[in-house]
Amino acid sequence: MRAGLAEAIKHGAIADAEYFAWMKPTVADPAAAGDYLAQLVLRSVQIKADVVGRDERESGPRKMLNFGHTVGHAVESLSGFRLLHGEAIAIGMIVESRIGERMGITAAGTTEALREVIAAAGLPVRVAPEYLPERVLEATRSDKKARQGRVEYSLIERIGMASAGLDGRWAWGVEDEVVMEALGAGG
Ligand SMILES: [Zn+2]
Repeated sequence: MRAGLAEAIKHGAIADAEYFAWMKPTVADPAAAGDYLAQLVLRSVQIKADVVGRDERESGPRKMLNFGHTVGHAVESLSGFRLLHGEAIAIGMIVESRIGERMGITAAGTTEALREVIAAAGLPVRVAPEYLPERVLEATRSDKKARQGRVEYSLIERIGMASAGLDGRWAWGVEDEVVMEALGAGG
């Protein structure tokens, strides 16, 4: 259940700041949340349907659903799938928010806001030390989003707002050094 909540946290992060702020007590204790959990699932389904409905061919805004997934898929695969998908993208969202902050795309403090909710949900907030930054970087290159060898990151501007990227491509190329720094940054 906690792993499933990672996608709900993502939906708030990319599209709905109010939802993001509202969900913290629910993700902290989903078993006791009752109706709130049903509301959470409903709002997440609405957000996903809205995003997919805006872009059925996955050429633009739908890429915002990939937030956390470039680094997430890399650590998921490096773990030999011992990390659940939601655990991997929880880590991925933190690292990709840090990447965005370093690039000046993501507002300062966004990573901290994400970390609070992800930690409240009992999900991991850091890359385990056995996954060396260079190996994670290498693993991002075999992800399906690495088209023509170019690794794409879907970033957010702030909680509740995905970045449209340059020329409305809804994705950013990121220098290797920035990825390495974001992966290596502890805490
Ligand atoms: Zn996912």
